[in-house]
Amino acid sequence: MSSQIPVKDVTPAKVESVDLYANREKIYTRAFTGLFRNLRMLGGALLFVLYFGTVWLSWDGRQAVWWDLPARKFHIFGATYWPQDFVLLSALLIIAAFGLFFITVFAGRVWCGYTCPQSVFTWVFMWAEKVTEGDRNQRMKLDKAPMDGRKFLRKLAKHGIWVGVSLATALTFVGYFTPIRELIPELLTLQASGWAVFWVGFFTLATYGNAGWLREQVCIYMCPYARFQSVMFDQDTLIVSYDPRRGEHRGPRKKDADYKAQGLGDCIDCKMCVQVCPTGIDIRDGLQIECIGCAACIDACDSIMDKMSYPKGLISYTTEHNLSGQQTHLARPRLIGYALALLAMIGLFVWAIASRPLVELDVIKDRVLYRENEQGRIENVYTLKIMNKSQHDISYLIEAEGLDGLVYEGKREVKALAGEVLSLPVELSIEPEKLPSSTNEIRFRIQSIDDARITNDADSRFIGPSVR
Ligand code: SF4
Ligand code: SF4
Repeated sequence: MSSQIPVKDVTPAKVESVDLYANREKIYTRAFTGLFRNLRMLGGALLFVLYFGTVWLSWDGRQAVWWDLPARKFHIFGATYWPQDFVLLSALLIIAAFGLFFITVFAGRVWCGYTCPQSVFTWVFMWAEKVTEGDRNQRMKLDKAPMDGRKFLRKLAKHGIWVGVSLATALTFVGYFTPIRELIPELLTLQASGWAVFWVGFFTLATYGNAGWLREQVCIYMCPYARFQSVMFDQDTLIVSYDPRRGEHRGPRKKDADYKAQGLGDCIDCKMCVQVCPTGIDIRDGLQIECIGCAACIDACDSIMDKMSYPKGLISYTTEHNLSGQQTHLARPRLIGYALALLAMIGLFVWAIASRPLVELDVIKDRVLYRENEQGRIENVYTLKIMNKSQHDISYLIEAEGLDGLVYEGKREVKALAGEVLSLPVELSIEPEKLPSSTNEIRFRIQSIDDARITNDADSRFIGPSVR
């Protein structure tokens, strides 16, 4: 018996293409005031003063903070760091990373909202926008209006301020590598090096593009920290959050209405929290990766709560535990672990800085293993590299030890200028019968004649013929 299996044609009549990339909608933020905005402005102002001011400070006749790349030295006030000290820089970066982990576990994205250069410069650029083009509604209207003289002048003023801030930022940044008091006149007289011009142009463009045009897209799509920090959050991490138990059902009402009787919560659905948000999200939809924790929505909502004579805090810094009615645990194992690790690393770093030798000694042994001199003594030849890492000229005494009867032949006393690297040829000799073996550990020691604390040593070997 044969049976037929019915076949149905399920080929779609038309294959529809779906665009996975949504066009970016320009965000028009509304200006606002409030406690967190003031805190942010204070923090931003301090960072600006630090960044733009430090580069102009002088120390001992040179720029106080200066990455002198051609000379491979980093000056920071009274100290000079060399490539040999870059392990300290790595340690500093690790400490900064752990500091960021600690802050993130404790207080979420406060770094993003208050101190990240991307946010700080974006706030400054938004201020320029408001000053030149007006507040949110005026800017929206201006953008829709056809180009005329008034619009052109306003746009020109805005971009003029943006470019000015970007250029100042770039000049300052490059000024940390090329002394700024030389860089600016060189640029003005067209005598600056091609690299200086390139980097000033590059950082001007980067600041202008990031803070003027890309803005929240840097935080949402480009910043790696934004991606991995969400895994660091726990239910006791401080987050900016809307309290739906208090706010819902949202809806408009008259100021003195008995809104509870109407089944309404405290949210009047004014959307102020959305309009002030620099990333354009609605915090009432819950915690979102786009939220940079800037608290602009808290300030905006608190001002509305004030106007409605409702208690503040419908949007607030809180924790997930708090939102679900449970207790928040500030001291928790992960946070304590980060704090202890951070303290230990800071302690080690301070110790490493304090005990950093101000003289570096390297010993290079000659390729000729040994030779016998006219008196029948065994001789080894070395080149000592002496690096004066201090800010002053120093006279040193050098000695070699490790073998009885070892004779140092060469200059024992040398003077190195501040920051100088000396190359000193040295010979050591010994009577053959005093050599305990064909390869012997020895040590060179260098010490400042005037300051016994400035000292260092380096190991090497003294080679002789085979001892029977
Ligand atoms: S600002 Fe406050 S009241 Fe207004 S919509 Fe946002 S949460 Fe609701
Ligand atoms: S939701 Fe609030 S805290 Fe988050 S980015 Fe927007 S304004 Fe800032």
